[in-house]
Amino acid sequence: MSKPRIGIIGAGVAGLACSARLAHRGYEVHVFEANEFPGGKINRIQLGPYQFDRGPSVLTGLNYLEEVFDFCGEPFEFPLVQTQNSFRYFFPDGIRLQLGTNPEDIAAEIAIKLGEDRRNVSRYLRKAESNYRHIAPLFIEKSLHRKRSLIGKKLIKALVRLPWYKLARTMHTENQARFRNPKTVQVFDRFASYNGSHPYRAPAMLNMISHLEMNEIPFLPAGGMIQVTNALYELAKNKGVQFHFKERVRHILLDQDRCNGLETSKGNYSFDAVVSNMDVSYTYERLLDSKFAPHKVLDQELSSSAVVFYWGIRTKFDQLDLHNIFFGDSYQKEFDTIFAQQAVQNDPTIYVNVTSKYITGDAPDGCDNWFVMINSPVDNGQDWEKEVAETRTRILERLSNELGESIEDLIEVEQVLTPPMIDRIYAGKSGSIYGNASNSKYAAFYRHPNFSKNIQRLYFAGVSVHPGGGIPLALNSARLACEFLENDLISVTS
Ligand SMILES: Cc1cc2nc3c(=O)[nH]c(=O)nc-3n(C[C@H](O)[C@H](O)[C@H](O)COP(=O)(O)OP(=O)(O)OC[C@H]3O[C@@H](n4cnc5c(N)ncnc54)[C@H](O)[C@@H]3O)c2cc1C
Repeated sequence: MSKPRIGIIGAGVAGLACSARLAHRGYEVHVFEANEFPGGKINRIQLGPYQFDRGPSVLTGLNYLEEVFDFCGEPFEFPLVQTQNSFRYFFPDGIRLQLGTNPEDIAAEIAIKLGEDRRNVSRYLRKAESNYRHIAPLFIEKSLHRKRSLIGKKLIKALVRLPWYKLARTMHTENQARFRNPKTVQVFDRFASYNGSHPYRAPAMLNMISHLEMNEIPFLPAGGMIQVTNALYELAKNKGVQFHFKERVRHILLDQDRCNGLETSKGNYSFDAVVSNMDVSYTYERLLDSKFAPHKVLDQELSSSAVVFYWGIRTKFDQLDLHNIFFGDSYQKEFDTIFAQQAVQNDPTIYVNVTSKYITGDAPDGCDNWFVMINSPVDNGQDWEKEVAETRTRILERLSNELGESIEDLIEVEQVLTPPMIDRIYAGKSGSIYGNASNSKYAAFYRHPNFSKNIQRLYFAGVSVHPGGGIPLALNSARLACEFLENDLISVTS
């Protein structure tokens, strides 16, 4: 009997993980990618002698990457760089915070610099860990959309341990109640931006994200984030996946309400099932008849986007580490401006990532590669040329003041990424980075499932569907999509 054929739309991290898993299970897998490179947002650019990871810079939940290799029966050889610190924070009044790589050091630093009770910070972090351990198996590792996948001991345990009151509170309300210094509150509120949400509206349950960065550490792959893509791409190729780069999918082909193939820019292909790693809203809008779109789920508020400057800097700054955050004055106003006014805040939080601190070769000797990112609204037709020019001026002013040198004079090479570019290059809806925002208490239940309820044999993997944004969650979505696909195909053939 011939192998069932699976078509995958998109070679983002979730598409790659799906392809390797399914090929390992014996399916004939074809991945169609509109770009000429794999990895989606996890790719690299070279500007003169400088190298930059173009998208993600913070890798957490490494176990989910390892899980893909375990599933495929392959060794997980993924060298990491031992970093000395996690994040360095710069507050506008000159206070600086250098967080270490274990919870005790982090609690001590916050106690010394921000006057918190060290034991209180430690308690908060232990609670974040325990919440994560109870919630992840239910909300991240399982689908919320098919009852039979939920039933089991883990569900009962999670339901008993779940802090339900955290659905009613916001991240900020909870953090404000737990800490005395507004700066500490701001440090912990920041984790809302890890899935593109507003800390004053996102449910307190998301405070558990701090566990991934403060109890565990953000990992830095030797060679940079692109190694996540390289590792999965090599795994998929070794399993026999066939890649079709620069081949955009134009339509999902249906036989009534069953998916049976893909029309691409180069021709038609028949498939037994299809997995879309493309943004779920765009999958319905662009590849299917709009009658299939589940509007209630899709028409939610979108997550934030970003403006990123890639700057080759012809000097080294000892004041900077790998991950640096320059907070603005009003965090609430910053997110209100993004979500309500759809504009970039005058005094935004600036994230500066400098991989050349640890990866020689990312910048010439005596130089640094700066990835400078601010949160922004999605593209709603704003004048981005103007927004970018103004934002660039403000960022340069702030960083020059903080670091004591005119940064503009030190920029050797430069490129920018804007929300319209995120839409154009990766087909992220209006430039949203994580699909829908988690700005309501029921957000987790409003994410699209990993399968289509209206079209048989169509599955979804990626940050715009369950369980949500970020690399670890995208990898979970890939596993869930594959499990649904296999279940459906096996139940038909057996
Ligand atoms: C600037 C930036 C910073 C980020 N920082 C972090 C971070 O630090 N940590 C973190 O965990 N996450 C971060 N993220 C989010 C991160 O990129 C995602 O979590 C993850 O990489 C998304 O993977 P994905 O598989 O969902 O999709 P994507 O990476 O979006 O891949 C989707 C792929 O589908 C392809 N495609 C779309 N439509 C079609 C079509 N019709 N035909 C063929 N191909 C198609 C696209 O070209 C793309 O390659 C960041 C994102 C950005 C933009």
